[in-house]
Amino acid sequence: MQVICCVCHKTKKHNGWAKQAAQAGGQLSHGYCPQCYQQMMERVENFFAMNGCRKSA
Ligand SMILES: [Zn+2]
Repeated sequence: MQVICCVCHKTKKHNGWAKQAAQAGGQLSHGYCPQCYQQMMERVENFFAMNGCRKSA
């Protein structure tokens, strides 16, 4: 099973993440590479900071 980053489309190799097309026929799992994961987390934090804590009614 290969993991592909759904943001930058890098695929995970044993020695790290490489910008390379995933092999055809293999099972793909979409995820985040460490870089995009970090960016995603920063965006999420910014989103909550901008919107404040949402209080459910
Ligand atoms: Zn990525």
